[in-house]
Amino acid sequence: MRYFSVDRRMFFAAAVAALAVTTAPARAESERLPVVASFSILGDLVKSVGGERVDVATIVGPDGDAHVYQPTPRDGRRLASARLVFVNGLGFEGWIDRLIAASRTKAAIVTVSRSATPRADADGTDPHAWQDVANAKIYVGNIRDALVEADPSGAEAYKANANRYLAELEALDQHILREIGSIPTPRRRVVSTHDAFGYFAARYGLEFIAPQGVSTESEASARGIARIIDAVRAHEVPAVFLENIVDPRFAKRIAAETGARIGGTLYSDALSDAKGPAATYIDLMRHNVRELTAALAR
Ligand SMILES: [Zn+2]
Repeated sequence: MRYFSVDRRMFFAAAVAALAVTTAPARAESERLPVVASFSILGDLVKSVGGERVDVATIVGPDGDAHVYQPTPRDGRRLASARLVFVNGLGFEGWIDRLIAASRTKAAIVTVSRSATPRADADGTDPHAWQDVANAKIYVGNIRDALVEADPSGAEAYKANANRYLAELEALDQHILREIGSIPTPRRRVVSTHDAFGYFAARYGLEFIAPQGVSTESEASARGIARIIDAVRAHEVPAVFLENIVDPRFAKRIAAETGARIGGTLYSDALSDAKGPAATYIDLMRHNVRELTAALAR
């Protein structure tokens, strides 16, 4: 019995020491600024700027489609306890205003795209501004400013994190320009599933054709698909890409009917899970560029 109680005391002391070591560097959960991001890509940008001072809850998670998301009571509770709610805007989260009203949250609502230049197509405003890294930098600036205002004692940390991350985004932007620039111009044409890459196309010089519009809310029409099959044949489009958030069957049908190859999966509106190839925004953009160059450069 004596030995047992000594062992227990030693075990207890060791456990306290281990606890002290593991909890010392991180801020306690309760001290962190509670914030919500509407979708996974934005959640990653907020984490990159907020670091360990913020506790980020994401509404539409990895591989989720924010265009057609249905909020849950849990989302309402998260909004109610948040100090800041980060949204993309440009009509991306059609459900957010109702959710904000229903939750009675007192959080400040931060529309991160607010100073970006919107792109429009035949269906209306294109919300996918993050597909141009220059816009992601605008998002980061808006996130930093909102965090500094909500939590002034963290101002130095937020500014340092943002500066470090902005430098990584600058390197990413240059990488994409270089990689896409290495694809022969006549081969810079691809088919994607929904029209999520207009900003990417405009910045990096690639043409995307898609059977679905800027939202996934309406299904691709038979006429739309026939039009794409004609375009793929006429322009000898080398590759058709799948997307992580949408049904692959249209893309597969277009590939089968035209002889274009399936180029792989592009991450358009959501990250992959942590084990996947697009667990962060930077990984997502690098993955897409790898898939595009692998299919088109040859
Ligand atoms: Zn989309």
